[in-house]
Amino acid sequence: MTNLFNFNLENTYAELPETFYQKLRPNPVANPQLVFYNEELGKALGLNNEEMQSDEAIAIYGGNALPPNAIPLAQSYAGHQFGHFTMLGDGRAVLLGEQVTPDSKRFDIQLKGAGRTAYSRGGDGRAALGPMIREYMVSEAMHGLNIPTTRGLAVVTTGEGIRRETILPGAILTRVASSHIRVGTFQFAAHFCEIDELVQLTDYTIERHDPEVKHAENPYLAFLRNVLDRQAQLVAKWQLVGFIHGVMNTDNMTISGETIDYGPCAFMDAYHQDIVFSSIDVNGRYAYRNQPSIAAWNLARFAETLLPLLGRSKEEALKYAQEAISEFGPLYKKYWLKGMRQKLGIFGEREGDEALIEELLTLMQHYHADYTNTFLALTYGKEEDFPLGRMDEFKKWKIKWQERIKIQSETQEASNKLMYEHNPALIPRNKWVEDAIEAAVQKEDYTPAEELIHLLKNPFAHTDEQKEFAKRNYDTGTSYQTFCGT
Ligand code: AMP
Ligand code: MG
Ligand code: MG
Repeated sequence: MTNLFNFNLENTYAELPETFYQKLRPNPVANPQLVFYNEELGKALGLNNEEMQSDEAIAIYGGNALPPNAIPLAQSYAGHQFGHFTMLGDGRAVLLGEQVTPDSKRFDIQLKGAGRTAYSRGGDGRAALGPMIREYMVSEAMHGLNIPTTRGLAVVTTGEGIRRETILPGAILTRVASSHIRVGTFQFAAHFCEIDELVQLTDYTIERHDPEVKHAENPYLAFLRNVLDRQAQLVAKWQLVGFIHGVMNTDNMTISGETIDYGPCAFMDAYHQDIVFSSIDVNGRYAYRNQPSIAAWNLARFAETLLPLLGRSKEEALKYAQEAISEFGPLYKKYWLKGMRQKLGIFGEREGDEALIEELLTLMQHYHADYTNTFLALTYGKEEDFPLGRMDEFKKWKIKWQERIKIQSETQEASNKLMYEHNPALIPRNKWVEDAIEAAVQKEDYTPAEELIHLLKNPFAHTDEQKEFAKRNYDTGTSYQTFCGT
């Protein structure tokens, strides 16, 4: 095939030992039809956007054809699911290869929903349209919020029904990630492979994500520290926008620091530390408040996989690992505080900042105030428009906050600008996301989803269009629940 699309695929993962994957072709589908194509991402990948929307490209998204130089494979991994260790792997995903962009960046191109693999267990290897649209929309929103994430290049319907509780339209998401290497990939290597295979995976991952650590005194420790740092930043960003991942199993945590797996995720409306949306998370393991500590737990599992590499003796390795892990809490806190100061227009660091922030959050929780809108009210200076803004306790807090702003040397204008840049005009509210999915799945009407994606592209622009949309009803009632990817 001549390369119409400007694909520039390499297959470095396929050079790892065979234990790390199963080579197989995607399972063809009846009739792939394009529902979304991401021109912005296509351009960044160096692809030809016109050709990438042609029938030949659609055949690729459906798994009916392969792009030039693809070596398709499903990746092995293991993981702790709700605390229990198990063997996993790509049960419904096939990696086509790595696109090397004009600026020499490398991105995995993966089909999610491409049929059964050696790791499918009882599953059918397929995905339903609703959840694939959800992943496409919410990951684009996350990207707009400046939060590292895997992204969707395309969504196709397959022309096939898939059996769940009812028959649902099937779909495939073409997913792009700086890699799909997970904490669970390392757990697989540590538990099921030889030591030299663990070393190969680690060296490969370092080459891909952290090549500079090769020059460090202890490269593997430096690598661990980088992963901890990226995850501390990521989870802080989630907390700062009110994102609840919903299924923070170790197989759903990337080494790159990108958000992955948009199954049961949701954004909070009213602020509450204990919020859980996922129907299967009955004990609230992955509740909003627990996300930082779960991240630390997952990273401790990651550090364990590296123990054979971290020191000259077992004792030394353990000491290094424990020291590194113990830094996660303070690191996370540092990033979270930085982000909260930005949301409140605060420059510099002063004693009392944290108490001021906590006081606001406590008020929000007590009065069930909307998280995003409270920060917007402060940003726009329109507190009276919101119930919380009319409370005496809030007014007292506001005086303290304004005093804090006054003592810094930066101008009020600079402070306002900081707030505009860090408080999104809108987030992918659960109701809006669900309504857009419903229109797509029930009526084949993709315009609500397209409109939402368009508005969420740059939520810090604060356009009139965004402000108008943000006023829409977003009430889902009290029993809103999400479900793991079907
Ligand atoms: P998740 O909870 O989405 O992280 O998925 C957990 C595991 O289940 C992964 O190994 C997936 O590949 C696998 N899986 C999810 N859905 C399916 C499916 N429909 N068919 C086969 N495997 C699946
Ligand atoms: Mg997963
Ligand atoms: Mg999933």
